[in-house]
Amino acid sequence: MPEPALTPAELRALDREHVWHPYGPMPGRQEPLVVASASGVRLRLAEPAHGQHELVDGMSSWWSAIHGYNHPVLNDAARGQLDRMSHVMFGGLTHEPAVRLAAMLVEIAPEPLRHVFLSDSGSVSVEVAVKMCLQYWRSVGRPAKRRLLTWRGGYHGDTWQPMAVCDPDGGMHQLWAGVLPRQVFADVPPAGFDAGPDPSYVALLRELIARHADELAAVIVEPVVQGAGGMRFHDPAYLRVLREACDAHDVLLVFDEIASGFGRTGTLFATEHAGIAPDVMCVGKALTGGYLTLAATLCSSRVAEGISVGEVPVLAHGPTFMGNPLAAAVACASIDLLLGQDWAQQVKRIEAGLWDGLAPARDVPGVRDVRVLGAIGVVQLDHDVDMAAATAAAVREGVWLRPFRDLIYTMPPYVTGGQDLARICTAVVAAAREGRAP
Ligand code: PMP
Repeated sequence: MPEPALTPAELRALDREHVWHPYGPMPGRQEPLVVASASGVRLRLAEPAHGQHELVDGMSSWWSAIHGYNHPVLNDAARGQLDRMSHVMFGGLTHEPAVRLAAMLVEIAPEPLRHVFLSDSGSVSVEVAVKMCLQYWRSVGRPAKRRLLTWRGGYHGDTWQPMAVCDPDGGMHQLWAGVLPRQVFADVPPAGFDAGPDPSYVALLRELIARHADELAAVIVEPVVQGAGGMRFHDPAYLRVLREACDAHDVLLVFDEIASGFGRTGTLFATEHAGIAPDVMCVGKALTGGYLTLAATLCSSRVAEGISVGEVPVLAHGPTFMGNPLAAAVACASIDLLLGQDWAQQVKRIEAGLWDGLAPARDVPGVRDVRVLGAIGVVQLDHDVDMAAATAAAVREGVWLRPFRDLIYTMPPYVTGGQDLARICTAVVAAAREGRAP
């Protein structure tokens, strides 16, 4: 006999007592909404909130659910794989879903990325990227090259190495200053996707990389969009500057495409805006269409071969769930689904809808900036948002948003229709209006 279902009230009580939520205290202070199911772009609530039974999802579950929820193609892929095997260890064994996925990623990623390390989450894929770079320099006889350079305003995850390259002031990790490894930080890149490169910032990047070259293993950045660090866009020209300076000074270049990958900025990978490729690239989030947790670190043959000729000629990393067949099968289906449609047109359509729909936010008192790139829309306030008030305002409009700091933003599923997109925009504007901190 199945256990009787918990009522929403029971669920909330247990949740509050036992369950930790992202970036939250224990016990939690905010009442989470209980989601019973999700389909297409809609989250169905277990009990109505502000009169709404369903919410249009403006967040793609943090960049991941690009095809929406409960998608028949992804469901079939998961079910089919479930009947074959949901998991098997990856040490000494291999299987079709992981091999196919790796081959697909190499096919769509920019040259010269040819080798794929699968892991469980974005943060772990960044740990692996850092380990690859440090180990590369050890292997080729330059162990002093073990620091990282990044620019301020970034976000790369919550485990140790990623935390060390998150924004040191504005980020969530300033608590660990003095405990984390000290990395080299450039100023935040000047704002604006098409602002044109600022010569003094270019000079600063070049100078910092040159000055620290002997101790730098890698430069790591989010290309084009800095996500959780502040939802900022920068000119892709800076990525070319990083590429040139890294080449000139023997430093590896790592791009964290965990948020920006799979079409979100209008190109399949954000690095394509710059027409260059990194030595190492991390992907995650939308990799499985938001179904299962999976990430990948891709690297060039130079990096792989360098590691493999070293004193310890292996990459010493091997998560239990490495290459999880269920996640890999869904990832293959999600990439096929993406490439099998005119995703670029979908993203363009959303971009146009966001520009139109968010324009009224410019007239809201306290709004500092409204910006859009690809399927990402951002309203920045001149004050921290009152999260509870802003979220409630969005829910009243029938939309799910999750603002943070001074930002109310949306990155909807690519399948979001015109009316739902307009609704999301109305909700963002309402959240901006009502989310003034008390
Ligand atoms: N890098 C970037 C750019 C991200 O946006 C995130 C997640 N917000 C991560 C890394 C970490 O990924 P995960 O949460 O899957 O560990």
